Amino acid sequence: MKEITTRLLVIGGGPGGYVAAIRAGQLGIPTVLAEGAHLGGTCLNIGCIPSKALIHAAHEFERARHQAQGSPLGIRVQEPSIDIAQTVRWKDGIVKRLSGGVAGLLRKAGVQVLKGWARIEDGKTVTVQAEGGESVRVRCEHLLLATGSEPVELPSMPFGGAIWSSTDALSPDVVPKRLVVVGAGYIGLELGMAYRKLGVEVTVVEAAQRVLPSYDEELTQPVLDALQKSGVVLHLGCSVQGYDAKHGVHVRNARADEFALPAERVLVAVGRRPRTAGFGLESLQLDMAGRYLAVDAHCRTSMRNVWAIGDVTGEPMLAHRAMAQGECVAEQIAGQSRRFEPMAIPAVCFTDPEVVVVGKTPGEARAAGLDCIDAAFPFSANGRAMTLEATGGFVRVVARRDNHLILGWQAVGQGVAELAAAFTQSIEMGARLEDVAGTIHAHPTLGEAVQEAALRALGHAVHI
Ligand code: FAD
Ligand code: NAD
Repeated sequence: MKEITTRLLVIGGGPGGYVAAIRAGQLGIPTVLAEGAHLGGTCLNIGCIPSKALIHAAHEFERARHQAQGSPLGIRVQEPSIDIAQTVRWKDGIVKRLSGGVAGLLRKAGVQVLKGWARIEDGKTVTVQAEGGESVRVRCEHLLLATGSEPVELPSMPFGGAIWSSTDALSPDVVPKRLVVVGAGYIGLELGMAYRKLGVEVTVVEAAQRVLPSYDEELTQPVLDALQKSGVVLHLGCSVQGYDAKHGVHVRNARADEFALPAERVLVAVGRRPRTAGFGLESLQLDMAGRYLAVDAHCRTSMRNVWAIGDVTGEPMLAHRAMAQGECVAEQIAGQSRRFEPMAIPAVCFTDPEVVVVGKTPGEARAAGLDCIDAAFPFSANGRAMTLEATGGFVRVVARRDNHLILGWQAVGQGVAELAAAFTQSIEMGARLEDVAGTIHAHPTLGEAVQEAALRALGHAVHI
């Protein structure tokens, strides 16, 4: 068997692994990256990017249909239709371009990429089984585990055929007439709403009593309103029992009544689990934090020089967290003094309206024993929102009462994902309400609602 020796071996070429490898290469660390499927990992191939492409296509289609029904803007469109095979080809084109871009960046940084599945022999030795080719044994000083996560399967409804995972829903063979979505979390609602916009009859079954149960209720109310307005049927507090093609999905509600929901396809989106099995990881006997690999504030596992980042290390399972951890590990291996201790990690849900949460909500701040003030500014009072026909939703700020240090931002509305940068920067830089209130925000922009929320918390909002 061919053998190579390197300073750093990264297992997994997702946003965590590829960013770590690029940064390590930039810092002159001899680096090998093993990827069994596709560079870019879940995020780029079957996650963030293709989902946002599909959401955009569905949104454009819905807008065209909306304009065709008599537009107040004076736009005249006749009966739009969608060629879903072309939509999927367009989405695949974006994925291919980005994945190729990652390969180019790794090359530029001098990283050696091994295409194949890695199997751990010990903390310094890994075998990579190349597809149909020779295996390579890699000996390394540092091992970085960035193996990501995979969708959770329901025992009563294993993936395959009519039962879709998020991956299947991103490359649909057909636009089904009726789709049942199990799970009203990130994936269920982002993709459920997109399918509704494609004209599909969508029914959502959720075990909790609310949609997006990890967010606070005030924030998710506009999303709930939009779901109901668009005709998505919700069954909250229900559990699914199984599926058969004739009757559809068998559901049980809180009163133990059972009923069936007819569906040609069922999207199961009930969470993701870390990828920790099947490649010899168990043999290292690393400390675990529940199902996840336990890491400290340096992203170190319980074994010396074995590091872990991204989804395999737990919540929040978000691409930008994995990337930031990847950079942090590479810089430590290069000898820099670093810790992974961000003030806040933004979370964005790309529903329509979008939801952004950064830092503490009012409830979380109070639960932490902090005396805080919070104030919201509605988009109904924002000129830009009116010109975009997007007056639903608001921006909310949370700050300490004594010194006005900003603790958190939340927003719901069309296009608010782009406000996440301003929110996170203000918290990371230790801004106070006066800093944001005193910053000139461009007019007319949605960002003015950020300034107005800070002004309102100080008791002198101008435009409300
Ligand atoms: P992954 O991206 O999962 O990459 C791990 C890689 O390791 C994979 O390519 C896998 O093939 C490889 N691998 C695993 N084991 C081995 C082995 N033994 N040998 C070789 N290779 C191996 N996050 C966001 O921040 N924003 C979003 O909008 C967003 N949307 C999403 C939409 C969907 C539908 C899904 C499913 C996820 C979404 N996420 C989003 C989550 C995001 O994709 C993950 O948080 C992110 O990809 C995690 O990065 P990672 O590097 O930890 O792992
Ligand atoms: P999720 O944790 O966001 O939502 C799962 C939902 O399913 C929850 O509301 C839960 O109560 C419900 N549920 C669980 N078991 C159930 C059952 N048996 N029947 C009915 N409902 C059930 O998980 P997800 O939507 O699968 O997404 C997985 C992860 O991917 C997310 O946690 C997130 O980290 C990541 N993601 C992020 C984004 C983004 O950042 N925009 C988008 C998609 C995915």
